[in-house]
Amino acid sequence: MRCRRCRQPPVIELRRHNAAFCRDCFFHHVQEQVRRTVHDFRMIAPAERVLVAVSGGKDSLALWDLLLDLGYEADGLYLGLGIGEYSDASQEKVERFAAGRALPLRVVKLEAEGPGLGVPAVAAASRRAPCAACGTMKRHYFDAAAFTGGFDVLATGHNLDDEAARLLGNVLRWQKDHLARQRPVLPPTHPKFVRKVKPLYLTSEYETAVYAFMRGIDYIVDECPNAAGATQLLYKAALDRLEVESPGTKLAFVKEFLRTAQPAFAAVEQREPQECAGCGMPAYGALCSFCSLVREVETRRARTASPLPA
Ligand code: SF4
Ligand SMILES: [Zn+2]
Ligand SMILES: [Zn+2]
Repeated sequence: MRCRRCRQPPVIELRRHNAAFCRDCFFHHVQEQVRRTVHDFRMIAPAERVLVAVSGGKDSLALWDLLLDLGYEADGLYLGLGIGEYSDASQEKVERFAAGRALPLRVVKLEAEGPGLGVPAVAAASRRAPCAACGTMKRHYFDAAAFTGGFDVLATGHNLDDEAARLLGNVLRWQKDHLARQRPVLPPTHPKFVRKVKPLYLTSEYETAVYAFMRGIDYIVDECPNAAGATQLLYKAALDRLEVESPGTKLAFVKEFLRTAQPAFAAVEQREPQECAGCGMPAYGALCSFCSLVREVETRRARTASPLPA
């Protein structure tokens, strides 16, 4: 087999593309794939300011690297979730990446913000699964940072494998509201929201891992300790098995959903957000889900702290 583009000996084979590439042509392949995704889905206009949510993992750091290479002005946002050594190590990776390239990076640590609550404390006090609490916290702080920083676009590093696993989970439970919002581009539905985009939507986890490794990006290899119990991993493993038997399954699953089913779900789910009475950010009730969660934690803590009646 030879490199599809230059006919030199290849270093990587991509079965779903039925192709192999040498190192330089693999970089070109990934960059082109992301450039086309950004262009075809109208994710980012040339002069727009992008905020990239970076976790220290391969996908988000590769995304930051790719967007800069494509010529976009992109700042990084790191959210310190307060998950012990994992958070310390991931922050270090992000800071080193940004410092090595002199890139603007914003660091928001949950334990230093308003209610002073990291993910483990919220999960324990609200008796939610850590990932459920984490998702609500992340969404709130990403939205708030993008809005207050005056950015046009918020970009996250979700890849094809993440999207296929999320789609499978949503389909297995027919979560209509989630299916209505599962898109590579979410236009703002409120003046305090910015456009949310996933430029790696059609790039596989394997491709981002190899890309990050070959580009010399030093990313955190360890998973978050809460990932082990996440159902997302189960869905990923099931899809991996299907992909081995039939390369291209994940891409077809996600692309065909987007083409045929997603518009139908989006057409029936049209809720307009109001402003949250707690934080002023958009909300689908009197309080946004972040403020409801914080209130729940504070109420439970007050109850445990109050003395027992005589
Ligand atoms: S695995 Fe769960 S808790 Fe850990 S970062 Fe991901 S969503 Fe948050
Ligand atoms: Zn080549
Ligand atoms: Zn709120």
